[in-house]
Amino acid sequence: MIKFQEVSKIYKGGKKAVDEVSFTVETGEMACLIGTSGSGKTTTMRMINRMTDPTKGKILIDNQDITEVNPVELRRKIGYVIQNIGLMPHMTIRENITVVPKLLKIPQEERNKTAERLIQLVEMPEEMLDRYPNELSGGQQQRIGVIRALAADQDIILMDEPFGALDPITRDSLQDLIKDLNKRLKKRLFL
Ligand code: ADP
Ligand code: MG
Repeated sequence: MIKFQEVSKIYKGGKKAVDEVSFTVETGEMACLIGTSGSGKTTTMRMINRMTDPTKGKILIDNQDITEVNPVELRRKIGYVIQNIGLMPHMTIRENITVVPKLLKIPQEERNKTAERLIQLVEMPEEMLDRYPNELSGGQQQRIGVIRALAADQDIILMDEPFGALDPITRDSLQDLIKDLNKRLKKRLFL
């Protein structure tokens, strides 16, 4: 459960980016923030993994105030898919998918299994694991961005405009994929 209690964020210089926002996202639920550019969507999301802290109000995850959790610990539990994919160009798809498991010191053999299982989940051939990001289409790269967020088996996945740069058809199929993954994996997805 993610709970916002009258959360506001005022940036240095006085810009009020988020104004007394309250909502709850239950475990297994998928929630979307919809708003015009500059309306505070990214700021709201960045407060969930403490990349930025609220000026006022409280955020709870599973009833715990997140200011009581070490930010590094917190981020281990939370995946983040950024706008425009953010794959590392010099790493293979396999290395990209398993970046977080590697940081968590999961053995290589297990990391390979994870990469193989996840690429099947998005219906892409296993051979693609040994390619580099620029050898994949935009839609394929974005699929990899999504499964990379799943690879560390985190409970919460934040996605900041993950479909922004895609054509409408690719966007539709990726949206269906994410809905399907949400049902199957019971993650709390946050777009
Ligand atoms: P969105 O993601 O909905 O486009 P943002 O959360 O990025 O909106 O931004 C909300 C408002 O806060 C905007 O007016 C933006 O210019 C401002 N803002 C965002 N980040 C900062 C920052 N680090 N410092 C000052 N102002 C910021
Ligand atoms: Mg934004």
